[in-house]
Amino acid sequence: MAVDGASLDIHPGEVLAVVGESGSGKSQTALAVTGLLARNGTPEGSILWEGREILGLPEHRLARLRSEEIAMIFQNPMTCLNPYLRISTQMIEGMTLNRKMTRTQARSACIEMLETVQIADAGNRIDMYPHEFSGGMLQRIMIAMSLLRRPRLLIADEPTTALDVTVQMQIVQLLEHIRRQYDTAIMLITHDLGLVASISDRISIMYNGQIMESGLAENVFSRPRHPYTRALLDAVPRIDQDEKILRGIAGDPPDPASRTPGCPFHSRCAYRMAPCVEHRPDTLGSREHAHACHLPDET
Ligand code: SF4
Repeated sequence: MAVDGASLDIHPGEVLAVVGESGSGKSQTALAVTGLLARNGTPEGSILWEGREILGLPEHRLARLRSEEIAMIFQNPMTCLNPYLRISTQMIEGMTLNRKMTRTQARSACIEMLETVQIADAGNRIDMYPHEFSGGMLQRIMIAMSLLRRPRLLIADEPTTALDVTVQMQIVQLLEHIRRQYDTAIMLITHDLGLVASISDRISIMYNGQIMESGLAENVFSRPRHPYTRALLDAVPRIDQDEKILRGIAGDPPDPASRTPGCPFHSRCAYRMAPCVEHRPDTLGSREHAHACHLPDET
């Protein structure tokens, strides 16, 4: 997936939701931020971290940044944990290596963090193996592990996708709790606009590697301007509607590898006009609310 001209910013303690369908470039954007793009991915432009340019930093300095300041959690925690090692071994190892703590100090800190993410009986459970936990608990453990380093930015890439609906909401509430307790900025990457409604300060809507609309969550939810955002919102099931029909977005996203002129959404847009096919719309607006569409605002 080629991400093209995406511009994102996040402030301390802020939750930014990056929302889009699978293949829209959300995860590639996050990987670019952390310097983890695959070898055939070359980020261009600028990535400023606390005012410092980090694009092009040597790998050892990026690794240090990832180890100390920016943490990432992924969709399937099982792929990030070693199934043959107890949770205690996996958590404590990082603490003793990076923070020069004794094992006893590190174990106490790990238990405390497991309690923060609401793992009951953490003092005993820390010695269990990954397969002895549910998916939701493993995701909590991954969050605890990432927080041990007290990151200033936590990137959560589809952290709830593999979980059932009740547990999804618990994880989202946990992220909200973490933001408040540690003032951690959170970039929450998801395809589920409904899921992020309760905790996001700001939202960026991505489609085919480009930002379609962005702004304060209240603005994007209450006054969506871009036809793609409106279609995404229409696709969110609502329990207050009598209608039992689930609305999808007609058509398929364009080939992520190809880059055509014009608006990337034009093949699926009900409002398409002649310029949409030829000219890519500029992004107009402010940090509070901006969008990229040829339609006049009031449409
Ligand atoms: Fe639809 Fe045109 Fe706006 Fe794209 S620019 S979203 S095709 S109206």
